[in-house]
Formats: sequence, structure tokens, C-alpha cells
Amino acid sequence: MILHDKGLYYQGIDLWMDSKRIKPSCYISHAHADHTAKHKRIICTPETAALTCHRLGNLGVNRVGYDQWVASNGARFKLFPAGHILGSSQILIETDHIRLVYTGDFRLGHSRTCLPAGIEQCDILVMETTYGAPQYLFPRREETEREFAAFVLEAINNRRKPIVMAYTLGKAQEAIAILASFGIDVTVERDIYRIAKIYERFGIKLGKYSMFNGGPFEGALIIPPHMKNFKNIAAINNKVLIFLSGWGIDGGAWNFHGIDRAFLISDHCDYESLVKYVEQVNPKRIFTLHGFEGFAQELRSLGYDAVTMKPGKEYNLSESIRPS
Ligand SMILES: [Zn+2]
Repeated sequence: MILHDKGLYYQGIDLWMDSKRIKPSCYISHAHADHTAKHKRIICTPETAALTCHRLGNLGVNRVGYDQWVASNGARFKLFPAGHILGSSQILIETDHIRLVYTGDFRLGHSRTCLPAGIEQCDILVMETTYGAPQYLFPRREETEREFAAFVLEAINNRRKPIVMAYTLGKAQEAIAILASFGIDVTVERDIYRIAKIYERFGIKLGKYSMFNGGPFEGALIIPPHMKNFKNIAAINNKVLIFLSGWGIDGGAWNFHGIDRAFLISDHCDYESLVKYVEQVNPKRIFTLHGFEGFAQELRSLGYDAVTMKPGKEYNLSESIRPS
């Protein structure tokens, strides 16, 4: 039995996963706030432990490295890379009867700041489907990175002040690595800076960057999106506001928020990658989470046995596997 209730609960091995309510013990797929709570004990990669404790204070931690099997209540599990942010993992749970993968947030393809997502074949796949609608197709990452850097450089050459808005954990560090690799001076807001230092502690090379002191800066400034309207940012003359997001694809709407340009740099899969991932994992049954209900329908039209998980509902896993 698996329950979807502000997180996932796998009854067979008494394991909570990404619970948003405080639990005695919980597996955390990655350190983004919508996947964590102040649990008594967290089970996660060493990188996720460092990032989570940085944000939430000290918690009890069971650190589990990638691809290391852990015995648990008559079953075993291992964590493997999710390609989303530093330390992000998927979990593979093996019982006598079932192999189950829960993806957490994940992304296929190259990233400058974390390992690419792994693929494990399984019977039951519980997957995140944030961009699970056909209009969400991202261009090649390398091209977008080049366009982003060229846009920033042009702004600097025109004596304008490029301000890049990127989420504090994950996207901002990716933005540092991209811009620094094009030789652009990078200044970053304090929280982004502190998290970047944790990335470097785990061996991620971001290039050169410095912390924003509230005054004048050279090159590009990276801030979290909510700081856009802060007085010292609003007061910067001649600025160009740039937003990095998968939602950039909805295009024109950004103009209304005073944003000059959005680039499609996402730490999630686009629609095509979600389908490609399912093809490679080849599960007998799929449960979809966090996204468009229509994605499960799309998968059914491709011949998969797929349902959208509803909050508060339990799903019987042994009954759900169709005879092969
Ligand atoms: Zn996330």
C-alpha cells in the first residue's frame, strides 16, 4: 500500500518519503523546501543533508551515498542520482515482490552542478511530472546557455546592469557556473553565496563569483526572484531583469512583471524527457505526482498503465501490477 498525503508513505516498509509534515523519520529526495520538514531524522544523500541542515538547522541524519544498498524492514533500498540539484536522489525500493522507484524532482541531461539522472527499471514508478504537458518542450540546454550568456554580455557592453533572478538553491548555482564559464564577472546575493560554498565543499566547480554587498557591482548580479522589488535592487539604474525558469515558455506574460527576458533553464524534465524516461524505465504501472493530470492520460494513450495520485488516497501496489 502506498499513501499520498502531503508526501508518500510506503506502508510495506514503514517509510515516509518527502513528507511536508514532521515525521520521526523520513527519506528526503532533495533539499527544496516543498520536499522537506523538520523531521527528527532524515534519510538522504550527504549533500542533501548538508543543504537541508543549512536551511532548517540541525536534524538527525542517516546519510546514504548513491548506489549504496540499505536494509529496511525486510526490504532494501538504494538512492541514485536525480539530476535536479546537488544531492538530489531517486529511491529504488526492492521487496520480495516489487521493485518501486520514486523519482522526486528529476531532470535528464547534462547539468553543470549535479550528476545526471540515473535510470533503474522497476515494476512501479512514482514520478514527478511538473512539465507533463506537450507545450512544455525545452530547447537544447547548450543553446539556451549560449543565448543567456550572450544577452548578459550585450547588456554589460551597453553599460546596462543585468540582474538575473534565479531560485536560491540549485538554479542560482547553475547560473553562476554558466556565466563564470563565459568569463562574466558574477556577484551573488548572500544566501545564494552561502549555498554556493556548500556546493564547492562537495567538489562542484562554479568558477569565480563574489558576494553582493548592496552597493555597485561589476558584471551580472544574481538574486532570488522575491528580491526584485527590494529597495536597493529597485534603485539600480539602467538594469535589465532576466528570469531563469521552465515557466519562461509561457512567454509574453513576463513583460507584465517588468521582466525583460526569460530563459528556459529548468531543473525539471520537459514533456519529451518525461516520456523518454518512462520508455527507458519501462514500468508495469505508473503513478504521477505534481503536475498535469493529463500526463497520466497521455501515458495511457501510449499503452502504459498510469494514474494520477490523488491527495489523501491509498493505492494497493500488489493489485496494481497487471499480469505480464
Ligand atoms: Zn525541487
